[in-house]
Amino acid sequence: MADKHLHAASLAAQALGWVDPMTKAIVPPIHMASTYERDADNAYRSGRVYARPDNPTFDQAESTLAALEGASAALIFSSGMSAATACFLALSPGDHVVAPKVMYWALRNWLAAFATRWGLRVDFVDADRSEAIAAAVRRGETKLVWIETPANPTWGVTDIAAAARIAHAAGALLAVDSTVATPVLTRPIELGADIVMHSATKYLNGHSDIIAGALAGARQDAYWASLKTMRAQLGTILGQTEAWLLMRGMRTLFPRVAWACRSAETLAERFVAHPMVEEVLYPGSPSFAGHAIAKRQMRGGFGGMLSVRVKGGERAAIASAARVELWKRATSLGGVESLIEHRASIEGPGTPCPTDLLRLSVGVEDADDLYRDLDQALRRADNA
Ligand SMILES: *Cc1c(COP(=O)(O)O)cnc(C)c1O
Repeated sequence: MADKHLHAASLAAQALGWVDPMTKAIVPPIHMASTYERDADNAYRSGRVYARPDNPTFDQAESTLAALEGASAALIFSSGMSAATACFLALSPGDHVVAPKVMYWALRNWLAAFATRWGLRVDFVDADRSEAIAAAVRRGETKLVWIETPANPTWGVTDIAAAARIAHAAGALLAVDSTVATPVLTRPIELGADIVMHSATKYLNGHSDIIAGALAGARQDAYWASLKTMRAQLGTILGQTEAWLLMRGMRTLFPRVAWACRSAETLAERFVAHPMVEEVLYPGSPSFAGHAIAKRQMRGGFGGMLSVRVKGGERAAIASAARVELWKRATSLGGVESLIEHRASIEGPGTPCPTDLLRLSVGVEDADDLYRDLDQALRRADNA
């Protein structure tokens, strides 16, 4: 767009203002082609050869995400997991990495099982404390520090700027899983991060109808090139239709996230005082351990994710989830419909998730309806 001073919300709403030069359509077509014609002189002047490395339907989502993150470039992937694992597979066996003890469970399992077998040396730390990250990095050996903030499912907050300073002093890169914060609330690259990862399945798409991932990079350096090569070689690309749906979803990212933040804040405030609730975990709660850091590095809200620990333990938590009528009992997050999940049940053995915890993904329904539904479920579970 011509105006360089537009806010990110305007860039997202208009997907950078793109209009098709041929038809003047304000929404892009879906390019289904798997291959591109070579010019008669044997060159590929379009810059595109084959749809595994290149697809024009990716361009708009990638350039919009790069603009929203203040990044040099972005890459969309077939899933959040394929985006995240690419960051580790672009390293070399023998390299040392630091990751959080509390993080997205499937990625933690992959690091502990596959990545270590492949030859990475992985240390899991309490990333809420910068000192723990500092104690784990090894100068010259640590190549990547991975953090997630706020972190699933207890929403601990990591100081991104401090983690970047620690990583860089050790000669390592900092990658941030910013799925829950979204570029609306946090821009990790401005705080010193090198790579930002999203499960685009969640808020970026926002409608629970595709699986997708994304990386945004501060620089287009050799590491970035290897991430791009990895996607092309492994074929962890998004389908054309899914890429189009992702872009469609991203246009409403700002109003969806703003609404979810307001409702989550309201629910957190109201459930703190609930007789059936032991504790509310939400970065926006003034009493929450990570609140001060969250206030510094998150703008415009504290996210749409919170957890409640239910009085009466695991049995009462599962019974409460069984009695909701508006909330949907499902895993995942960041969609327009609110989801509730007994998180320990899905993470399984070895999880650090408390067994009395219900994870809540707040959608865009009316906050009062969401409160009343969960309130009646908690009370009925208590009487059961
Ligand atoms: C869902 C999720 C992932 C994994 O993304 P997929 O799109 O499911 O592969 C990674 N990190 C976080 C924080 C997530 O919520």
